[in-house]
Amino acid sequence: MKILVAGGAGYIGSHTVRALVKAGHTPVVLDNLSHGHRGAVPEGVLFKQANIEDSDVSAWMRQEGIEGMMHFAASIEVGESMKNPALYYKNNVVGSYHLIEAARQAGVKYVVFSSTAAVYGEPDQVPIDEDAKQVPTNVYGRTKLMIETMLKDYSDIYGMKYIALRYFNASGADASGEIGEDHHPETHLIPLVLQAAAGKRKSITIFGTDYPTPDGTCVRDYIHVTDLADAHVLAMNYLANGGQSQYFNLGSGKGFSVKEIVEAAKKVTGIDFSVEYGTRRAGDPGTLVASSDKIKRILGWNPTHSTVEQVIGDAWKWHQTHPQGYND
Ligand code: UDP
Repeated sequence: MKILVAGGAGYIGSHTVRALVKAGHTPVVLDNLSHGHRGAVPEGVLFKQANIEDSDVSAWMRQEGIEGMMHFAASIEVGESMKNPALYYKNNVVGSYHLIEAARQAGVKYVVFSSTAAVYGEPDQVPIDEDAKQVPTNVYGRTKLMIETMLKDYSDIYGMKYIALRYFNASGADASGEIGEDHHPETHLIPLVLQAAAGKRKSITIFGTDYPTPDGTCVRDYIHVTDLADAHVLAMNYLANGGQSQYFNLGSGKGFSVKEIVEAAKKVTGIDFSVEYGTRRAGDPGTLVASSDKIKRILGWNPTHSTVEQVIGDAWKWHQTHPQGYND
């Protein structure tokens, strides 16, 4: 199937493009390269540099014969969303409206959407399943929930089928070492910790030590990007085979505190580095750990790369082979 991958030059998008090729699909990438990297898109994959809200995108989708769309293009930083909400409403909500509407007008039947655990906010219990209340504690999560709502209405009323995948903490890198995480500025924990290990920053700061967790630091569920990519392929195939619109959590089911990640990174890299303790980052819930039973049951998804050692080990391989990211 010919599948448009919006944001396919980004971190999760580029891993999914490879998984689509491997599964025999034909991905076509749309990315404005504001954060993505041309070098992350494999040779031989059609690439269009454009914004998701550009007025000619719909005609282009029709011309290319796009049947399914995966939508990764978004602003993704919790901290930034709490300082600059306008950017998030514009890029995520308004941008997604234009892209989804363009897809509808082009006759695209299936959409797989990058959603987030941030739609749940502070959970009443963990692990979090899909029936948990959805009260996001940050602007980023609110924008993603709004897009899910839009997709549900498009599905109910126009019959455009969708699956929203609520990622917990995407991490790791392709085992080849050829593609990985390269954000500017980097805000995510594992790449920052590895930059500290590599001597590229003088320390890592832990945001908050007074959370109601065993060691006082935030607990997250780190899921390998290769396992995420595989879930997108399963989701698209499911829709193409007549599956119903719905949403799924994607996590490993295991929680690690920030301190535990720092310790694991010291062990995997064999390098000691300096750690500082700072205040909480606005909008961060204490604990987010997934129950992914629903997607395992319905799509047969099974994460096979998501031990903390493999996640950090594969990310470390990418850091070592590409110390300047895609500029190397
Ligand atoms: N974090 C931290 N120091 C950093 C960056 C992140 O302590 O320099 C914490 C952050 O507060 C959160 C966890 O690490 O509890 C994961 O944050 P990240 O930004 O990687 O992902 P998020 O949970 O926001 O999706």
